[in-house]
Amino acid sequence: MFGLPRLLFNEEHELFRQSVKEFIAREITPYNSEWEKQKMVSRESWLKLGENGFLGIQAPEELGGMNIQDFRYNAILIEELGLSGCSGPAIGYPLHSDIVMPYILHYGNEETKKKYIPKMVSGEYIGAIAMTEPGAGSDLQGMRSTAIDHGDYYLVNGSKTFITNGYLSDVVVVAVKTDPSKGAKGISLIVLDNSMEGYTKGVPFEKVGLHAQDTCELFFEDVKVPKENLLGKEGDGFKYLMHELAQERLVVSLAAIALGEYMLQATVEYVKQRKAFNKSISDFQNTRFKLAEMTAALEQGRIYCDQLVILHNDKLLDPAMASAAKYNMTELQCKVADECVQLHGGYGYMWEYGVARAYADARVQRIYAGTNEIMKELIARKILK
Ligand SMILES: Cc1cc2nc3c(=O)[nH]c(=O)nc-3n(C[C@H](O)[C@H](O)[C@H](O)COP(=O)(O)OP(=O)(O)OC[C@H]3O[C@@H](n4cnc5c(N)ncnc54)[C@H](O)[C@@H]3O)c2cc1C
Repeated sequence: MFGLPRLLFNEEHELFRQSVKEFIAREITPYNSEWEKQKMVSRESWLKLGENGFLGIQAPEELGGMNIQDFRYNAILIEELGLSGCSGPAIGYPLHSDIVMPYILHYGNEETKKKYIPKMVSGEYIGAIAMTEPGAGSDLQGMRSTAIDHGDYYLVNGSKTFITNGYLSDVVVVAVKTDPSKGAKGISLIVLDNSMEGYTKGVPFEKVGLHAQDTCELFFEDVKVPKENLLGKEGDGFKYLMHELAQERLVVSLAAIALGEYMLQATVEYVKQRKAFNKSISDFQNTRFKLAEMTAALEQGRIYCDQLVILHNDKLLDPAMASAAKYNMTELQCKVADECVQLHGGYGYMWEYGVARAYADARVQRIYAGTNEIMKELIARKILK
């Protein structure tokens, strides 16, 4: 990479970046392989992130956070996790802070916030978000899980699948139908926690990639959920999802570009030392051109992502822009992954090589947070309206 100056960050951001970098080198990178075997990160790692102030930095001080409303800090955390090549942590930790916590912070009542946010900031509680069901992924409105009003409580029944952080999670924001007759307008968001009877989890799935990341099913059988655990208003859940999904898609884009940069860097180092036909692999024109093409594309993506972070800070990032970013950056990440594996030859297919892992980990980025086909629908909807 050229090391383009990053105009959006000031000295304070860079100091924060340095502390994040050091933390990752000390507490994450050395454990990633072990976590991959365990199919999840350690609970201890969550507590360490909390101790160091790296979870939920946007939460108000009275709830344990630092009240940092500057998304550039969140972006630095995502970026540095991505640059470390530890894709599982790069997805799971930001999901907790930048995807799950905002629902509780923006739509939870005071009681719910006090109950969950301080422990999510400290890392004692791990968060997840459950929208997808076995029969409803892209078509969220087709969900069948219900939360039926029983006076003092909601009775929740149904199941969710593919839930990131699911197995380790203590708190989960669940999308349910409070009025199954109303389609999108019958969807609400409600917070469940592990103390609730009737709420159980499956074992972590065997996935193609993202091995250091627990993804599982959740089951709800007559779970009594206190009324105050409803987020916002009954029937407004779909609206909240559409609003918050913009940040979720930006988070995925930021992870995608950083993981792309990680793969390119690893490949540059590899081709300089690998020899064939008495030459360094980096002497072949094909290698040089591929590296040049990837560098040019990633530099363009980096500037694009920086601009999106600035827009998001100014509350100008709309859902279609976020969808375009998610589509663009995850397609680029997967293309880079494929080229980098190719330039590694057979070694690129061996798990001990970072690019092999990054290749396997990249693929799902085009699927979750809304598939890239759905992203294109959302973009088209905006330009054709
Ligand atoms: C590792 C992993 C982690 C995940 N984490 C979470 C999580 O934390 N929380 C959560 O709620 N969900 C999570 N998901 C679920 C993910 O968001 C869904 O898998 C995704 O939205 C697609 O839904 P689906 O799997 O049901 O596929 P389907 O909706 O069945 O789609 C199948 C194919 O049809 C295409 N398709 C569907 N509708 C259209 C259309 N209208 N136009 C064109 N093409 C279409 C899709 O693009 C796709 O190619 C995760 C998934 C994975 C694999």
